[in-house]
Amino acid sequence: MNPVVPFTDLAAMTREIRGAVDQGWERLLASSRFIGGEAVEEFEQAWASYCGAAHAVGVANGTDALQLTLVALGIGPGDEVIVPANTFVASAEAVVLAGATPRFADVSPRTLLLTPDDLDAAITGRTRAVIVVHLYGQMPDMDALRRTADRAGVLLIEDAAQAHGATWRGRRAGSIGQAGCFSFYPGKNLGAFGDAGAVVTADADLAKRIRSLRDHGRVIGSHYRHDLVGMNSRLDALQAVVLTAKLRRLDAWNEARQSIATRYRAAFAPGPLRMVEDEPGARGVYHLAVARVPDRARVQQELTALGIETGIHYPIPCHQQVPYQRFATGPLPVSEAASAEVLSLPIFPHLRDDQVARVAEAVLETLAAREVQLV
Ligand SMILES: *Cc1c(COP(=O)(O)O)cnc(C)c1O
Repeated sequence: MNPVVPFTDLAAMTREIRGAVDQGWERLLASSRFIGGEAVEEFEQAWASYCGAAHAVGVANGTDALQLTLVALGIGPGDEVIVPANTFVASAEAVVLAGATPRFADVSPRTLLLTPDDLDAAITGRTRAVIVVHLYGQMPDMDALRRTADRAGVLLIEDAAQAHGATWRGRRAGSIGQAGCFSFYPGKNLGAFGDAGAVVTADADLAKRIRSLRDHGRVIGSHYRHDLVGMNSRLDALQAVVLTAKLRRLDAWNEARQSIATRYRAAFAPGPLRMVEDEPGARGVYHLAVARVPDRARVQQELTALGIETGIHYPIPCHQQVPYQRFATGPLPVSEAASAEVLSLPIFPHLRDDQVARVAEAVLETLAAREVQLV
């Protein structure tokens, strides 16, 4: 049976850009430039300019974007990189893949994002960088984080994999740190028809190193010389065509997400449900609409029974995932408590007002029924 309210609807987005993709692919098939070439360059320029960054380098996925950035910054064995425990595992995975050591920090109980105090508490003599994660499409206080990082001589890298188009005081996600790393996994706010990613940066040398590293350490402009040990993490031209087409719709799609989030907030304002808060000064793009509910398993089950799909982002904080437990330095109470309560409600650009109302009503009914039973 089809859900009454699905968690997302990728097909609706595909329908809007299908014509542009068909035309672009037709041209590409005629040219046979499947790796690199005009389609990739066109997207890289459009993406850099959208983000307000001087350079964008297309790569194979978001995890590679993070790993290549760390490697290109010379971060590796013996270095520590601070990562919030409340994130998708790839934020920490990239640190380990670069040969460095992740050090987990707790998050704000209001926003569930990294705070300057959490960052400060995690800095040691070995800290080289912090990966600030714009989880759920929300940005933390970037000025304060930047000050804390600068004071300690720590580089700031943005994991903007969920935050395409989000802003902090008018500046786009990805353009504030040393580098901004994006994933274009199909379900992200800007998603390809497969895996894809990018790094944006104002630093021309950094961009150049990442360009070389993504292509086997090849010297740019040379075919046979390799000055670095790189990897193969190139962006497919077929995906670049899709991304260029979807980028034209990104602002409209983000605005639709923002207006849905506003409706959820209004419906839940009287209580008892709490939505995760936004940082004043930030304009989020609601990759996810996250609420905190006690007795989550029951609530989720009852919503499923009503045909309403929900998700959990994420049920296990990174420092408690088996391969990362050895990097844990102690309990991180906010991340741990949040992981037991967070529930992601349906949010996607084509979600209708009546569906939003139905979700809000069902959630409130479910919570009310539960309270009665608890008495
Ligand atoms: C999706 C995601 C990544 C990884 O991106 P992939 O393209 O799947 O490699 C990294 N960090 C966060 C926060 C993500 O949501």
